[in-house]
Amino acid sequence: MVKHTIASIPGDGIGPEVIEEAIKVLRAVEEIHGNLQFEIDSYDWNCKRYLETGRMMPEDGIKTLAPYDAILFGAVGSPEVPDHISVWELILPIRREFQQYINLRPIKLLKGIESPLANKGIEDIDFVVVRENTEGEYSNSGGRLHVGTPYEVVVQNSVFTKMGSERVIKYAYELARKRGSKHLSVATKSNAINFSMPFWDEVTKEVGVDYKEIEPKFYHIDALVAFFVSKPEIFDVVVGSNLFGDILTDLGAAISGGLGTAPSGNINPEKKYPSMFEAIHGSAPDIAGKGIANPIAQIWSTSLMLEHLGYPEMAKIIVDGIEDTLVDGKVRTPDLGGTASTTEFADKIIENIRKYA
Ligand code: ATP
Ligand code: MG
Repeated sequence: MVKHTIASIPGDGIGPEVIEEAIKVLRAVEEIHGNLQFEIDSYDWNCKRYLETGRMMPEDGIKTLAPYDAILFGAVGSPEVPDHISVWELILPIRREFQQYINLRPIKLLKGIESPLANKGIEDIDFVVVRENTEGEYSNSGGRLHVGTPYEVVVQNSVFTKMGSERVIKYAYELARKRGSKHLSVATKSNAINFSMPFWDEVTKEVGVDYKEIEPKFYHIDALVAFFVSKPEIFDVVVGSNLFGDILTDLGAAISGGLGTAPSGNINPEKKYPSMFEAIHGSAPDIAGKGIANPIAQIWSTSLMLEHLGYPEMAKIIVDGIEDTLVDGKVRTPDLGGTASTTEFADKIIENIRKYA
C-alpha cells in the first residue's frame, strides 16, 4: 500500500463545501486503485480564525505543512476581512516558502460545456497557461512619498530574477515538449516595458537553445488577450509573468466555462516541498451555505494533484467522469443551468468515475 499525506485547508465560504466533495473523490480513487491511501489532515486556517486570533495561520504554519506530500486548498476570503490579508498572510507565504514557482492552469473546454464563444463557432479550446508564481509584478517592493499632497508619488517595482525567469520558462518548454507542441506562446510587452520584458524575451531565447524543435512565439499581452477570444485554437502552452499570467488565466477560465470549473496547481516541480492544488474561484460569499457551489473546479484540481503525485491514470478518470456527467447533462449545479446541489452533482461525478474502475 502506497501512502500519501495530504494537508487540507478548506478555508471560507464555499471552500469547505467543495473540499468535502473533493475528498470523497479521493476516497473513491483509493478504492478504484486498490493500492493507494491518502492520510488527510484538515486545518481551519481561514478568515474566521483571523477574526478570532488575528492570524490566518499559526506562526509555525509553514513548518506544519512542510512534511506533507501535497496541499489541497479550498478558498479563503470574507467580506469582513480585507482581501490582501488572506492573500498576503496565507496564500502567498505558502506559494513562496514552498517554492511553488509554477502556477499551472489548464484552459480546456470540457465536453458538455458550451463556451461563451460558441456563437462564433469556437469549440476547440485546450491549452495550458504556465504562470510565474513567486516574483515579477507581485513583489511587495515600492513605496509612497508625499502622501495626501498634490505631489504624491507612488512607485511599485517588479522584480525579475534570472533564476526565477529561467525556471518557469524551462518548465513551459518541457511541458510543450511533453505535449508534442511545435511552439511555445510567450506573453510579453517588450515594446513598452523596457527592462523586465526584453529580459524575459532574452531568457526565453536562451533557454530555448535546449528545445530546438519548439519555436517561441512572442505576443504582446494586449494582442494575446484578444487572440484568447478570437482564435484560442492556436494555443497549446502559454507562459507569462505573474501579472500577465494572472490576467490570462482568469480570461481563460471565462472562455472555457467559468469559475465553477477552473482548476489550478501551485507547483514545486522539484518536489522538494509540497505543491498546492486549488480552484481558481474564491469563497463566493453570495452562494456560500446554500449547497449549490459547482464542485468541478475543486475536483479537477484534485485530479491535477494526483497527476503531480504520479498517478496520471487516476487523474484522467476523474476528468473523464466529470465530462461524462456534463455530457449526460441531467445533473448540474445552477451555474451550469441545472438545479442539482453540490453533493448531488459530485455524487453523480463519482458514480461516473467508478465506471472506469
Ligand atoms: P473572494 O473574495 O473569496 O475572492 P469573490 O466573491 O470575490 O470571493 P469568487 O468567489 O471567485 O469571487 O466568485 C465570483 C462569482 O462567481 C460569484 O458570483 C460566485 O457566486 C461565482 N462562483 C465562484 N465559484 C463558484 C462555484 N464553484 N460555483 C458556482 N458559482 C461560483
Ligand atoms: Mg475575489
